Order: sequence, then C-alpha cells, then structure tokens
Amino acid sequence: MTSIPFCDRVACPAAGCDPVVCTGRGLPSNDTFFARSEAAIPGGVNSSIRGFKAVGGRPYIVARGDGPYVFDVEGRRYIDLVQSYGAVILGHAHPAVTAALAAAAPDGTSFGAPTPREAKLAELIGERVPSCERVRMMSSGTEATSTAVRLARGVTGRDRILTFHGCFHGATDALLAAGGSGVATLGLPGTAGVPAGAVAETLVVPYNRVPTLDDAVAAVIVEPVAANMGVVAPQPGFLEGLRTECDRVGALLIFDEVITGFRLGAGGAQAKYDVTPDLTTFGKVIGGGLPVGAVGGRRDVMDELTPLGHVFHAGTLSGNPLATAAGLAALGELDDDLYVELSARARHLAALLRDACGAAGFPAHFPVVGPLLGIVCGDVEVPIDFDGARRTDESAYAAIFHALLAEGVALAPGAYEALFVGAAHTDDVLDEIGAAAHRAAAAAMSRLGR
Ligand SMILES: *Cc1c(COP(=O)(O)O)cnc(C)c1O
Repeated sequence: MTSIPFCDRVACPAAGCDPVVCTGRGLPSNDTFFARSEAAIPGGVNSSIRGFKAVGGRPYIVARGDGPYVFDVEGRRYIDLVQSYGAVILGHAHPAVTAALAAAAPDGTSFGAPTPREAKLAELIGERVPSCERVRMMSSGTEATSTAVRLARGVTGRDRILTFHGCFHGATDALLAAGGSGVATLGLPGTAGVPAGAVAETLVVPYNRVPTLDDAVAAVIVEPVAANMGVVAPQPGFLEGLRTECDRVGALLIFDEVITGFRLGAGGAQAKYDVTPDLTTFGKVIGGGLPVGAVGGRRDVMDELTPLGHVFHAGTLSGNPLATAAGLAALGELDDDLYVELSARARHLAALLRDACGAAGFPAHFPVVGPLLGIVCGDVEVPIDFDGARRTDESAYAAIFHALLAEGVALAPGAYEALFVGAAHTDDVLDEIGAAAHRAAAAAMSRLGR
C-alpha cells in the first residue's frame, strides 16, 4: 500500500499553502487524492453512489463549494447539479447557513440533553407540514425510514411492509429488498448481507399501481414522487389509492419525503398532491447540508415512540445543535416565491437540455415535477415505473455525463439520479449549462460513435 503523507499544516513545505488541498508534496491532483482515499476507504468513497463504477473513470475530489459551483483539488470549477444529492437546496456555503453554523459552534456541538434549536426545527416542520403533529429529529434519512418502519410495525402489531420497485429508502435491511419485473415479490434480499429473514415481510410491488392490501400489512412506504429511478411523477389516483387502501385494512401510509420534503414546496409532496400520510420521513433539505433525518406524523402514532410509548428510538447525535442550526437557517430562506422560482428554473433547464440534445440527435427526456428535474437517456418512453426506468441507455448516460464533466458541468455519476436545481442556479448559470450541453451532446454522440 503506498502511503501519501497528509499535510500537517505545521511542517508543510509550501508555507501558506491551502491545508484543505495540500498533499504535502507539491501540486495536488484528483488522482493522488483518490488513490489516497482508495488506500484508506473501500472504493475510495463513503457512499457507494459517489463511485464512478456506473460511468467509468475516477471521481474529482471536491475541495470546496460556492453557490452553484464546486471546485476540485486541482482548482477546476464545475457547475454542480449534484448539490449533495439534494441536501443543499440553497447552494454550497450559503451565507445564512455558514453564519448559523459559526454562531452555533462556539456554544458546543452535542450535549445529550434537549436543546432549543431541535424544538424550533421540529416546530417549523410541523407548521409547514400539518400531518406532522409530532416530529422526532435524528441523524439521517436512513435512520428516519428504519424508525418509521419500526414504529408502524410496533403500532399496528403487524410485520408486513409494502414498498415499490425503484423507490429508495436508504440503506436499511428491511427496505433493501429486490423487486421483480412488473410483479409483486416477497422476501428477496436486494444486496448481499441482508438475510432472507430481514426482508421476509417486505413485499415489493410496481410503482404507480395501487396494490390490494390485506390486514397483514403494517405500512406502505412510498416516495410520493419517485426521485431515485430518475424523476417519476405519481400517476393521478396513485397516492389517493394508497391512502384508501391503507385506511381499508388499517395499515399506515408512510411518505418518504427525504428528497421531496421542503423541495417540492414548503408542504412537500403531501401538500402538492393533497394526500395526507400517517408518517413522513425527512432528511436532506431539512439539515441544510448537515447530517439530519426526521420522522413526523400523527400524534397518537408518534407518541408510541419511547420514552412515551413502547417503540424504541435513540441517537447520540439526534437533534444535534449544529445540524439543527443549519437546518433552521436553510428552511428560513425557503418561501413560496422561491419554490415558484425553482420550478421555473427546472422547466427552463429542461428546455435548454432538450434543445441541446435535440440539436445533436442525442436521445434523452427531461421529466420535470415542480423543482425536480430528471434525465432519461435513450430512445425510450418517459418511465412511470421501474420497468420503464431500467430501459434507460446507461452507456448514453455515461457519455453525456463525461462530456458535460469535461465542459465543467457535474451531474451525479449514475443514470437514475435527479439533477438538483437550487436557489444558487440563477438564469445565467442555467444558460451556461445550456451552452455547455450543446457542445457536450455533440461530443457524447461522437463518444458513442453515432
Ligand atoms: C437519500 C434518501 C434516503 C436516505 O437518506 P440518507 O440521509 O442518505 O440516509 C431515504 N429516502 C430517500 C427517498 C432518499 O432520497
């Protein structure tokens, strides 16, 4: 294993160098940093989707971000449409967020006792999302979905969980079940390491079709707009149908709004589609770029969590002072005007990308749901479920991904991620993406030999 010395700030040969990017031995490069990461971290990444396995090549290493931009360790600037997979809706290093963090940090970073900001953030979520009569703060979206499932099972006394093929609910065993093509499947692990027993009671069914439930079902968990298989809108009647079916058999309806919460609008997908879940999971936007998750819901259900009730939940860093400070600052900047603006920008960027791809003959769709924008590469129909989404031409995505990256526009390194347009992506930034996309779409066509 080669060892590359870390900059120790004190004895660094380049006096006055930037300690974030300094390698302690001359000009930093993405490749030296990534090699160092690979020598210390499996695959060099701390979240598997950051790896470039799906698109080929090696990741750029981000030294810093500023609004719509990230800068790699070589000083290269990218217009960033990853935006921490949707966690930083205001753009990178937004002054409201960094000021809140700077103000909060000197007062201490974690206590193991209740603090004012966590109450304020829970209140704010409840005000904007009225179905959340009580909110429990925690540290990730994954923790939120696993807690919501445990709570639903504990409250109903039932074990079965129904999920939809192509929806993603974080890396929690019970929700990492494999789905079948166009059919309902029960109890198939979606990854190595998940025992059959962990998903034995997880039923996976196709998205956008209302399943018939029975009284073994504790909960239905759904992304009310699917944003992890591209961006797939709920068909009219789908969410309403889930509500009706859950009510009919006494199951709980869980909306996983980790992406859609505070992104589609202040009230999330449940306000946009006017369907009220029993429980809602949050993450991403509500942490302002810090690690946060939350479960909110009906008071009688939420009060079943310990210490009031019998369903255990705890977390050392839950309601963390820095994370809640960042979340409060971020939510404080989000008003209805901004959401209208974000929707307009998503439509505008979709139009620019359609033009660019159309001009080059590069086959792609750009579905838009409010501020959410997706990309579907290939000569395919706009998907409404996972069977449709998986027809995506992944090699075409890899080609446009690399062509855009070469033009200084960063998408996520996977064909099924959303393009996150936020408050920092002003019209001039979008126009720059549009111009880059014209060149990139042509380059992608020649990469593909078409
Ligand atoms: C990102 C995501 C999660 C997981 O959240 P983490 O904070 O990454 O654990 C869960 N559900 C949905 C819909 C997500 O997009």
